[in-house]
Amino acid sequence: MMSRGRAVIRGCLSKSRYSDEPLARAHAMHMLGSGVVASEKAWVYRCAECAGWHITTRAGGNHLSASVRADNAWVPSEFAQ
Ligand SMILES: [Zn+2]
Repeated sequence: MMSRGRAVIRGCLSKSRYSDEPLARAHAMHMLGSGVVASEKAWVYRCAECAGWHITTRAGGNHLSASVRADNAWVPSEFAQ
C-alpha cells in the first residue's frame, strides 16, 4: 500500500481534495465569495492520480471546462471548444 506514486500523492495532499465535482464546485464558490482566493474565477478538475477533484485558479489546461464564479458554480466556458 505504500509503494504507489508517493511523490505524486504527496503533491495531491498539499491541495484540497473533494470526492466529487459538485462538492468541489460548491467549495470553490465559497472560496471565491469569501475572498480566500484573489481571483474572479476558478476551475475544478478530476485528478488522475488520486481520483479526487481539485480546485485551481489557473486556467491552464482546464480553461475549456466550465468555470466557477462566486455567484455561479457552473459557468460555461467562454472559450471555443
Ligand atoms: Zn489528486
